[in-house]
Amino acid sequence: MSTFAVRLFGDPVLRQRAAEVEELDGDLARLASTMIDTMYEAIGLGLAAPQVGVLKRMYVYDLGEGPQVLINPEIVESSGAWTYDEGCLSLPGMQFEIVRPKLVTVQGIDLDANEVVFEGDELMGRLIQHEIDHLDGTLLIERLDPDRRKEALREWRRAQLEGPPSMGPSSGAPAVVGGSDRSRHL
Ligand SMILES: [Zn+2]
Repeated sequence: MSTFAVRLFGDPVLRQRAAEVEELDGDLARLASTMIDTMYEAIGLGLAAPQVGVLKRMYVYDLGEGPQVLINPEIVESSGAWTYDEGCLSLPGMQFEIVRPKLVTVQGIDLDANEVVFEGDELMGRLIQHEIDHLDGTLLIERLDPDRRKEALREWRRAQLEGPPSMGPSSGAPAVVGGSDRSRHL
């Protein structure tokens, strides 16, 4: 199994807008497969291509129904509001309570070029919005109000000084912030 290193907050690639995927070829399928392995190794629910340094509009996820890939995703409708303690593999060990629309409809294509449209409620809706944010170069820390963002940056810097965050089951290091739950990392 080959995996990528997950890019962490501070890496400039995470702030760039990813480009539309124009060709569905073997390279893209291999990329998706390595991203899926990387996501499982990091114990995340989802992973967007920029998080492994690839500026393509694609993400992978698994909310319990096996691995899925969505290419060129776009939210076409959203409604409601839902609060969730959101985490990110690029900010391991941190979680922030963030309000976003509860229900979204996303449109995209799969690896076989089939058009897919589906509704995502609650956690699925949150994952869709979080991963598309990654494709637009936005991290969840930027979704916080200025005071909470400052506090989060302080916590992150402190955690970095204290040592590398836990990067998966092979590492025995504790999570950097109390109460963190890797199963909430998107
Ligand atoms: Zn993320």
